Amino acid sequence: MTSRREVERQGAFSVEYAPAPESTAIVSLAPRYDLYIGGRWVAPRSGAYLPSVNPATEDVLCEVAHAGDDDVDAAVAAARDAWPAWAALPGKERAKYVYRIARQLQERSREFAVLETLDGGKPIKESRDVDVPLAAAHFFYYAGWADKLEYALPGARVHPLGVAGQVIPWNFPLLMAAWKLAPALATGNVCVLKPAETTPLTALLLARVCEEAGLPPGVVNVVTGGPATGAAVVAHPGVDKVAFTGSTTVGKAIQKVVAGTGKKVTLELGGKAANVIFEDAALDQAVEGIVNGIFFNQGHVCCAGSRLLVQESVADVVLDKLKARLTTLRVGDPLDKNTDLGAINSEAQLGRIQQLYDAGVAEGAEPYQPECALPDRGYWFRPTVFTNVSQSHRIAREEIFGPVLSVLTFRTPEEAVAKANNTPYGLSAGVWTEKGSKILWMADRLRAGVVWANTFNRFDPASPFGGFQESGFGREGGAAGLLPYLKVEKIPA
Ligand code: NAD
Repeated sequence: MTSRREVERQGAFSVEYAPAPESTAIVSLAPRYDLYIGGRWVAPRSGAYLPSVNPATEDVLCEVAHAGDDDVDAAVAAARDAWPAWAALPGKERAKYVYRIARQLQERSREFAVLETLDGGKPIKESRDVDVPLAAAHFFYYAGWADKLEYALPGARVHPLGVAGQVIPWNFPLLMAAWKLAPALATGNVCVLKPAETTPLTALLLARVCEEAGLPPGVVNVVTGGPATGAAVVAHPGVDKVAFTGSTTVGKAIQKVVAGTGKKVTLELGGKAANVIFEDAALDQAVEGIVNGIFFNQGHVCCAGSRLLVQESVADVVLDKLKARLTTLRVGDPLDKNTDLGAINSEAQLGRIQQLYDAGVAEGAEPYQPECALPDRGYWFRPTVFTNVSQSHRIAREEIFGPVLSVLTFRTPEEAVAKANNTPYGLSAGVWTEKGSKILWMADRLRAGVVWANTFNRFDPASPFGGFQESGFGREGGAAGLLPYLKVEKIPA
C-alpha cells in the first residue's frame, strides 16, 4: 500500500476540511482597558488610548491605555511601596500566590487561548496547546523554587533586587509575561510589566488573575503602551532590574540607557537559527522538524529555524519532500482548529517580511510558495522556501520573523558548523542525524544557547533559555533563571 506521505510526495493527496472555528463566546471584551497599578484599574494620566486590532480581520477589538511617563512613575512607586512586605514574606507564602496564578491560568485556559489568538493572530491549536499550558507550567515551576532559594546556590545567601521593569514582545504575549513574572515573584521581587503594543490583552487578563489570586496591591503592575512607555520603564531610576525580550536593535538601545546605572539587566533578543540536516537523518521526521522550525507561530519566533542547512547528498530529496509538505499546510482563520498558519501579527510586520522577501528575489534567490487562497481581509503571508541562497544574502543574515525559510547546503560536518556559526546571532540551532556522537560533536561547536537534537522548538520551564552574541545575555527558565533576579552574597567559609 502506498503510504500517505508517498501520496503527498506525488502531490496527489488533498483533503477538504469543513470549517471548525473555536467559539469566541468565552471571551468578553470591554470597549476600553485601563492600567493595572497598585492593585487598581486606573485611567492613564496621559489620557491616551491605543486600539488593539485583530490581525486576521483588521477589526478593532478594544482600546487599551497608553501609559505616559507619569503613569510609569505611579506604577514604579506602587511597586516600591509593595516590595518590603512582599520580600519579607516567607518563601512558602509567596509560593502559594504563584501556585494560585498557575492554577487560575489552567482553569481559564480556553479563555486565555481564544483571547491570545484574537489579539495576535496565532492558530488556536498553538495558543491552546503550547502558549497557555507552557505559561501555566512556568508559574508552577517557579512556585516550586520560592521556598528553596537557599538550595539554588549552596554556600551563598540570596536577596531579591527590588522593582523589576519588564518589557516584552508580541510573538508570545502571555508566555513572555509568564517568563518574566514567575521567577521575579518567586524570588521576592515586584514587577512593572510593559506588554507589546499590538498584543496587550492576555497580559491584562493575567493582571486580573493576579488580582483574583489575592496578590498584594502593587506586587504586579501592568502598564500598556508603545515604545516610549517601554523606554520610560527601562530608564526609571526606581527600577532595580531590567528584563527585556525583543529586537536586537532595541536591546542595544536599552543597554546604552542602563549602562553605569547599576541596574541588573537581561536581554533576550533576536535570532537566525541554523537547522542542520545530515544525510543519515530520518528525513520524513526531519521535514516535520523543518516545518515546525520555521512555520510555527508564522515564523514569529526568536529561535525559529530560519536557515536550513541540508547535506548536499540529500538536498534534492529533502526539498521535494518539503515542498510537498508545504502544499498540505492550511493558512487562514486562526480560530479554526485545523489552521496551521494564522495571520501575520500586524500590518507593519507584514511590510517587513515583504521587504526582506523582495530583497531575497532581488539578490537572486529562488522563492517557492504553495498555492493557497488567502482571506480577503487581514494580514497574511504564504509559507515560503528560498533556494539558491548564498551566505551573504540578506535573507540568510537578517531575522525575517515571518514564515520564510532560506535553504543552504553543506558537504562536511565542519562546513555545517562554519556556516551555522556564520551569524551575528546565537540563540538556537537544530541537528538532525541518527548518530548520537555527531549530535554531541555538533552541540560542542555550535555557538547557540539551545541546540535541539532531532526535534525543534521544544520548551520546558526547567530548561534555561537565552543567547550568545547579538541574541542577548542572561538566562530565563530553570534554576539559572533565578539568578537574574537575585543579589548573591557568599557566606564566608
Ligand atoms: P521590539 O524590540 O520592537 O519591541 C519589544 C518591546 O519593546 C515592545 O513592548 C516595545 O513596545 C518595546 N520597546 C520598543 N522600543 C523600546 C525602547 N526604546 N525602550 C524600551 N522598550 C521599547 O520587538 P518586537 O518587534 O516586539 O518583537 C520581535 C523581536 O523580539 C524579534 O527580534 C524576536 O527575535 C525577539 N524575541 C526574542 C525572544 C528571546 O527569548 N530571545 C523571544 C521573543 C521575541
